[in-house]
Amino acid sequence: PAVDPAHFQPLGTWTSEQLHQSRAEHPFMMTWVPGQARHNVPNMTHGEGVYLYDEEGHQYLDWTSQAVCANLGHSVPKSLVEAAAYQMTQLPFTYGGIGMTEVRTRMNQLMAEILPGNLRAAVFPSSGAEANEAGILMARRFTGRQKIISWYRSYHGATAAAGAATGDFRRWYGSDNNPGFVKAFNPFPLFFNHGGNGATEEERVQSALNMLEEQILNEGPENVASILMESIVGAGGCLIMPTGYMQGIRAICDKYGILMHVDEVMVGFGRTGKLFGFQHYDGVMPDIVSAAKGISGAAIPLSMTACSEEIMNFFEDKPLGWGSTYQAHPVALATAYEAVKFLIQNDIVGHVQHLAPIFAANMQRLADQHPCIKQYRAIGLFGCFDVQDLTGAIPKLQHEPAHDAFHKYKEAYHKAGLVGLHRYPHVHCAPPLVITEDELLDGFDRLSTALAVLDDALGFHSPE
Ligand code: PMP
Repeated sequence: PAVDPAHFQPLGTWTSEQLHQSRAEHPFMMTWVPGQARHNVPNMTHGEGVYLYDEEGHQYLDWTSQAVCANLGHSVPKSLVEAAAYQMTQLPFTYGGIGMTEVRTRMNQLMAEILPGNLRAAVFPSSGAEANEAGILMARRFTGRQKIISWYRSYHGATAAAGAATGDFRRWYGSDNNPGFVKAFNPFPLFFNHGGNGATEEERVQSALNMLEEQILNEGPENVASILMESIVGAGGCLIMPTGYMQGIRAICDKYGILMHVDEVMVGFGRTGKLFGFQHYDGVMPDIVSAAKGISGAAIPLSMTACSEEIMNFFEDKPLGWGSTYQAHPVALATAYEAVKFLIQNDIVGHVQHLAPIFAANMQRLADQHPCIKQYRAIGLFGCFDVQDLTGAIPKLQHEPAHDAFHKYKEAYHKAGLVGLHRYPHVHCAPPLVITEDELLDGFDRLSTALAVLDDALGFHSPE
């Protein structure tokens, strides 16, 4: 074939002009934004610690760890690189659907050691969505039931079943036609007014649990396989469930023989100051846990579906019936194995706990300083501000078009030296877990500069 001879130059040698020309001549898609966006995003050339650098040499602090996954920052520890190189040299691939490797055995044992209770790693797919697919199938096969209950304002992935379980606007792109998925409102006051105006937190929790149980009775408990939920809702805006709610779900699951499936894809592996988000809810032990992102610090695609020993035993004499070509990929496992070891050996969870009060104090500081901020939530190194307009309103649904002012803010955010995910009306804060205190304070200062632009653009008088 007639390929451009420039392809035979090594990676890292194309000039900025060559890259721009190629992008102009050869379109591709950015998937969550129109394809044209490829012309407007910085082309990152390298990373160092919590920073990324673009082809013009600009430095950006990664304020959301990309998609809340580059938890170890952008200088991958040498142990990960060496383990990947070792495995790629030794045996780059055997098919995990039928084969076994040393690294799979060791990773499996490590997971059994760090997972709480009697949870065990069952499968190691490549993405969070696949980990949820495997967990959904596991629940259906174990219980012999079909329906999956999940929350509105949740995200579980972009594949068919994970997309159908998703409760935010993204399911409308196609996966909503998948039968067997039922949505419920959790007691978070941002959307459904559980208990009515003036209800206490306890009343909201009770109302949400009563409604959930009523839904289960109407769906037929004998049809409901699992309740699937994020332990702390991530993309939906860092929603931490009020006391008693998750315990209430556990009790409802036990009462009706329904499995509790917790999605830890975004917050698992230390993001919130605990290894897993569900560990914030006293006494709550899920039956199925899906995780991804932090398991490898995003250095390579890997995810995990874990389940209780009871479920594991059920599948001892029958196949799960789910698999992908790259499940238990040896190079991915080797890399992730070292990433998890790095987390443990460097007590990254302890580091997050140490920074958590500083993080929360700075969320408060920015909320106080910037009238465009209505409220915020923070836990560990995970936080979210809600942006309000001059009337004090925040959009009820996330898919509403962003306020014009938000586009100015996004530009200011880049100019202030930050890179991150944006979805109006949320300002997500989730820097790499290895961030230092000084870098964290610097990040909040950069964000404050951008929020001052948002204050102005929304018509608030900026204090700065
Ligand atoms: N669950 C949650 C809670 C997530 O945040 C995400 C990704 N943002 C997913 C599932 C899907 O993971 P992936 O994109 O790796 O398929």
